[in-house]
Amino acid sequence: MSDIDATTFDSLRAAVRGRVVTPRDADYDETRSVYNAMIDRRPAAVARCTGVADVRATVAFAQDTGVDLAVRGGGHSGPGLCLIDGGLTLDLSPMRWVRVDPQAATAQVGGGSLQGDLDHETHAFGRGVPAGIVSTTGLGGLTLGGGHGYLTRTYGLTIDSLVAADVVLADGRLVTASEEDHPDLFWALRGGGGNFGVVTSFTYRLHPVHTVGVAVTLWPIERTGEVLRWYREFLPAAPEDLTGFFAILVVPPGPPFPEAVHGQKVCGVVWCCTGDPGAGRLEEVRSAVNDPAPPAFHFTSPMPYPALQTMFDQLLPKGLQWYWRGDFFDTISDDAVAVHERYGRGIPTDLSTMHLYPVDGAAHRVGPGDTAWAYRDAVWSGVIGGIDPDPANADLIRQWCVDYWTDLHPHSMGGSYVNFLGEAEGPQRVRSTYRGNYDRLAAVKHAYDPDNFFHGNQNIPSSAA
Ligand code: FAD
Repeated sequence: MSDIDATTFDSLRAAVRGRVVTPRDADYDETRSVYNAMIDRRPAAVARCTGVADVRATVAFAQDTGVDLAVRGGGHSGPGLCLIDGGLTLDLSPMRWVRVDPQAATAQVGGGSLQGDLDHETHAFGRGVPAGIVSTTGLGGLTLGGGHGYLTRTYGLTIDSLVAADVVLADGRLVTASEEDHPDLFWALRGGGGNFGVVTSFTYRLHPVHTVGVAVTLWPIERTGEVLRWYREFLPAAPEDLTGFFAILVVPPGPPFPEAVHGQKVCGVVWCCTGDPGAGRLEEVRSAVNDPAPPAFHFTSPMPYPALQTMFDQLLPKGLQWYWRGDFFDTISDDAVAVHERYGRGIPTDLSTMHLYPVDGAAHRVGPGDTAWAYRDAVWSGVIGGIDPDPANADLIRQWCVDYWTDLHPHSMGGSYVNFLGEAEGPQRVRSTYRGNYDRLAAVKHAYDPDNFFHGNQNIPSSAA
């Protein structure tokens, strides 16, 4: 749209209860900032929606004026998908609420809720939902992309616990999508990203989870080869109530790590056991981690589940530079191990990292065509993250990430978790994320958003079935 200026938004201001923030406002810069400080886009306005009425009014305004619309949940996407230069951001962050129904064992959450909001409320009932591992992540983008974390091997992906979603469509209608209502839309929402509408609330099925067993094992970076060759056999064979994501990292300078290892490049596994604490799973882990090489550090503790979920929050505050890329893996080949060894030794900054998140176990009991998440045969969802507080290091972390990914990608399954796609990876990468589900997603897009009104996302253009 052309000739948009701040006064153009007066009619939107009159229609919504939330604030409409434009460059004239003192808090414009704060309002447009997102988690990844590498993203510096200037929307013409941000509409802070307080409820469904505001969402519908904002969608109608964007349709009438032709301004590019982007939707913001938690603002955590690496490529900053919720901001378009000169566009309008429909900001759901005022819509943070959670309602637990203990009888039905479900929780309904507002479309702008964060991971920590859900964990806090459900924990009070001894329940939880499988989702991400950092409490400040938005449930909106995370759920619509699929969602994986510590509970995935036990209870599946986040979308496997999604029961229903209320969605404002491109034409302004509010519909509920579930197995019974708009099942095609419900199928597409479970992994297809923000392509189909604005989700104003999600309803999840709850699972028993309260105190979990946590362990962290670190080995010197020089042992990456032995550790990965051991881990690739150990983890998939482990019981489903045990998970452990593999990481290459620099040890942070603080507890629980002893000073002796601060600042050292290491490889490691963060373990979580959701099962019976008496079953001795973590004792088995404590003895097994000696098999590849003696660890430099091993820590074990029971923790309330929300404490585990906030363990990395302080290490990763808003405002860092991030550049990430991902891929799925069904094996960790010897060639891949060699790539990890090489780039692990060359980690460019203290926060840069590589993670392999297990996505097997319960997530494998759902078929590749049952939801939009096509990689039900993947064992790991990998992500390489170049991270640093200093903008001067942006090129350094970007280059490390791209080089690492370029060498590792040939040893992957070919596609990535959509939420780990980086900036400007192109339509072919989006297609490879969805494999055999892509054409069906494009057909659902055609049914619900034929003009591609919702395009501030990893975009799936409309195509008639
Ligand atoms: P936003 O940038 O607000 O939105 C991302 C996309 O989702 C945009 O296209 C937006 O339009 C769309 N969207 C968001 N909410 C809605 C809604 N309610 N309705 C319609 N569209 C919407 N992922 C995991 O699966 N597991 C993890 O453990 C995990 N850990 C992470 C840790 C960190 C520190 C970070 C930065 C990310 C992590 N992620 C993880 C990735 C995360 O899932 C994505 O970054 C996700 O996009 C975040 O969603 P958001 O709502 O915060 O992002």
